[in-house]
Amino acid sequence: MKATIALLPGDGIGPEVCRAGAEVLAAVGEHYGHSFELREAAIGGAAIDASGSPLPPATEALCRDADAVLLGAVGGPKWSDPQATVRPEQGLLRLRHAMGVFANLRPIVPDRRLSAASPLRSELLEGVDICFVRELTGGIYFGAKRRDSNGASDVCSYSVMEIERVVRLACELALTRKRRLVSVDKANVLETSRLWREITSRIVTEEYPAVHLEHMLVDAAAMYLIQQPARFDVVVTENMFGDILTDEASVITGSLGMLPSASLSAGGPGLYEPIHGSAPDIAGKGIANPYGTILSVALLLRHSLGLEREARAVEVAVSGAIDAGLLTPDLATSNARAVATAQVTAGVVGLVRGEFADRAIA
Ligand code: NAD
Repeated sequence: MKATIALLPGDGIGPEVCRAGAEVLAAVGEHYGHSFELREAAIGGAAIDASGSPLPPATEALCRDADAVLLGAVGGPKWSDPQATVRPEQGLLRLRHAMGVFANLRPIVPDRRLSAASPLRSELLEGVDICFVRELTGGIYFGAKRRDSNGASDVCSYSVMEIERVVRLACELALTRKRRLVSVDKANVLETSRLWREITSRIVTEEYPAVHLEHMLVDAAAMYLIQQPARFDVVVTENMFGDILTDEASVITGSLGMLPSASLSAGGPGLYEPIHGSAPDIAGKGIANPYGTILSVALLLRHSLGLEREARAVEVAVSGAIDAGLLTPDLATSNARAVATAQVTAGVVGLVRGEFADRAIA
């Protein structure tokens, strides 16, 4: 197959992990006979420095025309003046909006071999396999904002259509998994949550009777994610609750650096990125964990290009690389055992090509 993939490295460790993702994509292309054209463009702080805009029109156009977008991360201390009117994060929010990526998928599957890095006891991690579906383009992050000398307000609003489409997507996903859906809201307090609950119940009853639905208040969900993470299968929720809960859930895997995400639209290109930020504290050192980005490549192959066999091959290669002890400092039990981003990447590339990971270590 032929596909064009937009690469947006961004800031901090973004370029380092994006390079790893690009190398894995190239290896998949070569090994499985696909032609992936990778086109790079600026976003975030790097784009502000180059052109004054965090999302230059050329970047937006490239992303709209591509089959999928792979992004590193944006932001950093250089651009974090709270008084600044132009900020790197605006680039990402505008891009999500321009691409219409309304559903953010975040799989949370702790690896038993990395349980020492998790703050939870290993027995609590047994059987944990959660996929969050976070609504990404509505709610309080996008509502009207007001500030005057007496106070400030942020409007949270959801239309019926915005809730319906993300709930349907979550139901479709549940059908491919254990068919259990938890819908998280704050229906005891918020009107938007009462609408969310009503619509979710209707869609599951009328269109997805095979899916078992449980409504859960966001405060209870925050607690159960720590106490009984294995009780969740697919979780669907609105933008802000999803933002907070997915960060909470991510730490149970041991490192932010492990986790991929896919942001999907209705038929347009998808946006794939690790869930971590630009990690300025380790940028430029060559030690960033690239697994989250490489696993985002697997999601890209699966959801945007329909290449399930290739997606599985990347996931199996990541597992093989972990088995071979290819762990960056955030995962390794001692610094002496830790390896660099480039070694992890070479190991995964080798495994995708059918070679042994330990050849990459040698
Ligand atoms: P962060 O995710 O960048 O870093 C948090 C901690 O996790 C740091 O100690 C970092 O070293 C570590 N870490 C993160 N990714 C890692 C990886 N791949 N390998 C090893 N360690 C890793 O979050 P932060 O420090 O709160 O934010 C830093 C900057 O990133 C800020 O400017 C923030 O706005 C931005 N940010 C961007 C995104 C995005 O682009 N999607 C998301 C979150 C934060």
